[in-house]
Amino acid sequence: MSGVAIVGAGGLGAPAALCLARAGVPFSIFDGDRVEPHNLPRQLLYRDGDVGRPKAQAAAGRLRELVPGARVEARVAFVRAASALEPFELWLDATDSLETKLWLSDAAVRRGATLVHGGALRLSGQALLVVPGEGPCLRCLLGDDGDGLSCRQAGVLGPVVGLVGAVMARLALQALRGEAAPGALVTVDARLGVLRERVLSRRRDCSTCQEVQMPIVRIPASLRSFTKNQEEVQLSGSTVGELLAALEKSAPGIGARLFDEKGGVRRYVNIFHNDEDIRFLQELKTPVKEGDKISIVPAIAGG
Ligand SMILES: [Zn+2]
Repeated sequence: MSGVAIVGAGGLGAPAALCLARAGVPFSIFDGDRVEPHNLPRQLLYRDGDVGRPKAQAAAGRLRELVPGARVEARVAFVRAASALEPFELWLDATDSLETKLWLSDAAVRRGATLVHGGALRLSGQALLVVPGEGPCLRCLLGDDGDGLSCRQAGVLGPVVGLVGAVMARLALQALRGEAAPGALVTVDARLGVLRERVLSRRRDCSTCQEVQMPIVRIPASLRSFTKNQEEVQLSGSTVGELLAALEKSAPGIGARLFDEKGGVRRYVNIFHNDEDIRFLQELKTPVKEGDKISIVPAIAGG
């Protein structure tokens, strides 16, 4: 993984791209749109003569003019699958729809990719650094539904997006150097002329963060017929016993292969909590916390 993927070459993406190019960071800029006359006032990389050209191409061309030697690649496409972003070390969300922003944030959390979110609405804007497993995601900031507005619908002032785009690039550079705090949130208020920075915490009831933090149960090949061939199942529970009861609910029939009539673990089944056999811990009462891994390992039949 290397370089940055800038998703969106509009009001946020263009200034962010210029800052990254100046800093010598290689990046690809994704956008499937073409430059339209109404873009010109707040999408500062484009000139009148660019109207009708694919934005990604026009932006990359202008950046190479402004910053000779800039390592920028144009991708004339909308990002529809997170796999397109997998090769990149950091994703920069410069899109203008809330739905896409939430989708990108969820995809980054699920894949463990670092993401810099940026958004602007009327006279204010914000940038957030999302480091999965270490800090909050966009849903932690906005709630599960967000506020339902995008800058396209609500209108936004040119200088606000320019400022937010530059702040996004700054957060991205700090994150690449390991100098930024996960959850760093910069808010911009153009009415008051204020730029504020603080560190946001994860929301305990955030559905996306919770999902990723749930313990995992690893299923051996011999039992995967119960789990539709899934090698790992994420479940919630506070002890190994609760997790395995939840496993039986999601994969009916698997419990009979794990437990005897008295509800104890069968002798030929070994269950590990992370790397330790639960027989040497508290057996089924062994407590489980976020991110733990439970492995079911059938004993090899001996002579
Ligand atoms: Zn979250």
